[in-house]
Amino acid sequence: MPRIDNDVKLDFKDVLLRPKRSTLKSRSEVELMRSFTFRNSKQSYTGIPIIAANMDTVGTFEMAKALSKFSLFTAIHKHYTVEQWKQFAVSNPECLQSVAASSGTGPNDFKNLTAILELLPEVRYICLDVANGYSEHFVEFLKDVRSKFPDHTIMAGNVVTGEMVEELILAGADIIKVGIGPGSVCTTRKKTGVGYPQLSAVIECADAAHGLDGHIMSDGGCTCPGDVAKAFGAGADFVMLGGMFAGHSQCGGETIEKNGKKYKLFYGMSSETAMKKHTGGVADYRASEGKTVEVEFKGEVESTIRDILGGVRSTCTYVGAAKLKELSRRTTFIRVTQQVNTVFN
Ligand code: 5GP
Repeated sequence: MPRIDNDVKLDFKDVLLRPKRSTLKSRSEVELMRSFTFRNSKQSYTGIPIIAANMDTVGTFEMAKALSKFSLFTAIHKHYTVEQWKQFAVSNPECLQSVAASSGTGPNDFKNLTAILELLPEVRYICLDVANGYSEHFVEFLKDVRSKFPDHTIMAGNVVTGEMVEELILAGADIIKVGIGPGSVCTTRKKTGVGYPQLSAVIECADAAHGLDGHIMSDGGCTCPGDVAKAFGAGADFVMLGGMFAGHSQCGGETIEKNGKKYKLFYGMSSETAMKKHTGGVADYRASEGKTVEVEFKGEVESTIRDILGGVRSTCTYVGAAKLKELSRRTTFIRVTQQVNTVFN
């Protein structure tokens, strides 16, 4: 008989942060930089733990250049060649500390990843990304990567439950990517019926990871700076963003013009658009689990970054957290039935 878990699981939209008495005078007093030492790599990180997703529209070298100026991080997508990495490294050596090289579990991916890391020892982060982080094959792959790169910091996922977070940490990952189905261009929940509300996933996975001295990254589902703050409040050490960074000059993907207005194409990495671009089409045995949208062109990403950082700083002042590090300790979520006033929408 199928089991039903009757605990209510929540999304960002189901809660707000409760304000708390605070001694902070201004949001300029808030420190967003964090430092972590990772469980398995033993390496340290210092920066603002917001990460551009390893999608070919968002995880670009241009994005890395812009984000690194603000101490943000970029998971570079896996479709750049070693030669392109080489050129990037030569002209932007200062960015190499704040990027990860990505890979799926395919043999070609791994060959490319190895070549990049051997060429560029300054790249210290690996992002191992599969749609379904629950497979034994993925765990075995992660173990292989860990033994080949004993002191690189490994991000791995995606999963949404504590037991799998623990398994991936014990298999060698440092930062577990959390999120199945919340993404802005993800259709997994529609195609498969599988998923987990993101806020609860983050709360539960953070608890599991922190118990083992591991870290987590909330991946997907943030639609506004308030959601980023909620993800940190829920216990995420890092927050990964795709859609919020889409539509900028720094993004990959076609620019189109309609009625005098500019748009940028943004698509899921398992959308038909991406599969046609990178593998020549959707294989017979699978359905696409991502969609393609046109995002209104937003210009340079700098103003979006300021908007996000300003929002999170303000959250910290509302709850009395002088540092981002204190945000989850100062967080009380309240369940709500309405987020915003929609009268002028
Ligand atoms: P967003 O910030 O846009 O809500 O979510 C970004 C995340 O969506 C990515 O980091 C990745 O985990 C996920 N994602 C990207 N492309 C796809 C896709 O085609 N299908 C699914 N299921 N998830 C995707």
